[in-house]
Amino acid sequence: MKIKRMALFVFFTLGILFWTGSIHTSSQGGFFDYDVLIKNGRVLDGSLRPSFKADVAVKDGRIVKVARSIPGKASKVIEAKGLYVTPGFIDLHTHVDEGMYFPENRACLNYLTQGVTGVIVGQCGRSAWPIFEKAEDLIKTWSEEGIGPNAALLVGHGDVREMVMGMEEREPTSEELEKMKALVKEAMEQGAYGFSTGLTYLPGTYAKTDEVIELVKVIAPYGGIYHTHTRNERDKLIEAVKEAIEIAEESGAPTHISHFKAIGYPNWGLVKEACTLVEGARARGLQITVDQYPYRFHSGYPYQRLIPRNIWIGKEEINRLETEDVQKIFDYLRDSELIELYKKITPYIPLSEHHQQFLEELPRKELVRFVSRNFISPSRFQGPANTRERMLFLRRMENPEEAEQIRTAVKQNIEREGGAENIVIAICVEKDLEGKSLKYAASKRQKSVEDMAIELELMGARCVPLRMSEEDIEYIMKKEYVGTGSDGASPFYGIGLTHIRSFSTFLHKIKKYALQRKTVSLAHVIRSQTSLPAEVMHWDDRGWIKQGCMADIAVLDLNNIKTPTSISNPHQYSQGVKYLLINGELTIDNGKYNGKLPGQVLKLKK
Ligand SMILES: [Zn+2]
Repeated sequence: MKIKRMALFVFFTLGILFWTGSIHTSSQGGFFDYDVLIKNGRVLDGSLRPSFKADVAVKDGRIVKVARSIPGKASKVIEAKGLYVTPGFIDLHTHVDEGMYFPENRACLNYLTQGVTGVIVGQCGRSAWPIFEKAEDLIKTWSEEGIGPNAALLVGHGDVREMVMGMEEREPTSEELEKMKALVKEAMEQGAYGFSTGLTYLPGTYAKTDEVIELVKVIAPYGGIYHTHTRNERDKLIEAVKEAIEIAEESGAPTHISHFKAIGYPNWGLVKEACTLVEGARARGLQITVDQYPYRFHSGYPYQRLIPRNIWIGKEEINRLETEDVQKIFDYLRDSELIELYKKITPYIPLSEHHQQFLEELPRKELVRFVSRNFISPSRFQGPANTRERMLFLRRMENPEEAEQIRTAVKQNIEREGGAENIVIAICVEKDLEGKSLKYAASKRQKSVEDMAIELELMGARCVPLRMSEEDIEYIMKKEYVGTGSDGASPFYGIGLTHIRSFSTFLHKIKKYALQRKTVSLAHVIRSQTSLPAEVMHWDDRGWIKQGCMADIAVLDLNNIKTPTSISNPHQYSQGVKYLLINGELTIDNGKYNGKLPGQVLKLKK
């Protein structure tokens, strides 16, 4: 027995040496065979294979054995009878890096509680550098101070472009293009995993396809991945997907399309043709993949007014408060005063030299815009709480002819959203209407939908229009090349309204689409958030419950998944992850987060 154990020890040590290429000493000392032993769970290993009963042993950060029964001692034994053991989830698309600037958000607790052990950040053209710091600075800070999930960084096109060209709407000169290429190259040298674009955002939208191709060509030799928020997710979805495929073809880089969907009732169903295009490209040998979040509403802030701005304001359109009006006030200040003002509200304490220099070098107009938008957003002065606008709207409603025009316009708008059943009341002083559709509210209060909308608007209610179809979501989800990407963030707990995807994407997808609706199998969902994202990112030792892989492991209680987040009360952590291991270290223990930050910044190996 002793000899057998010794042989096992040698075998595992060699295995670890083989996988890591270096000698590791167990932090647990020599008394245990394993650091963690997960016993009697049902394993979903990341493949499409149905679950099977097995024990999983972890040592020095890696899975060292998966077998029906593993004897031996471990410093932590997890009894997983009745639970599922899966690879930790990998979020292909999230904006947590913005919140992770703040140490209190480094753990990304809203993601750990979903079973997420890896995130791909720097999305939609926005990365935390190079404007304020270099990729290596961010990597250094996160590595030294610790993060919850593992993170891979993308360099954002929007930031690179802004740094070189400001917010100018034109093509870059050849000199500017070279500068942008150099910045992308620098980030790749420092460990970025690829490049992202946000082609509907400013300034990304100013870039023509050729500019993007030239920049993506920079990452191709590194084996970098191109992630794109495409140019259009509405009526021009097909053209936008064609553009992504063209970029993949011309640049030679694996291309990943983010948050794949068709927004807007008239565009529902377009995803079928878009998928056909992706499948055609894949059949030609191109590496094109896609991610999706499982919700019918979009945007980090999906809360809308019930009456669109143009209808609300009517002919007053020309007299409304504009961004430029606010900027005029700031234009009275000298450059140095503007920078001092900015310092009073920025969380960047102290302002780095790089950041200070960036502000000092901004053209006057850009500086005014930059500082003023940090202080005041004109939208805060718009809507039913603005006394002037309210007075003007109610006066228009007193005129029968105008009131009728308003009602008609509101009704048409509701129809454009697919009808009152597709508009959900999220925030309302009359609490019995929260979470209910506009259609329900109208019938409950015995009003027409347009009158109900007007009444709700005057109460300051906020609604969430369901702009994607359930049929589209399920059509996309069934595809074997579609991974999960939450598109969420790491907000300050309790502050502000945010899309519920930040709190529930991964467990909601399992519960609703595998367990309840059975749209896809459980193994299919698990694969879409484990081995498939790992494959997209070219990670060969994550995303699987397999000997030799890094021990990113979730132990799930599938019978007790709870996703209490709602559009009326979004800041609610998910439940159902009993244990979570990141790089072999326990972070959630018996359903509770233990405060550890074992995540690593994963750098692209050259
Ligand atoms: Zn995006």
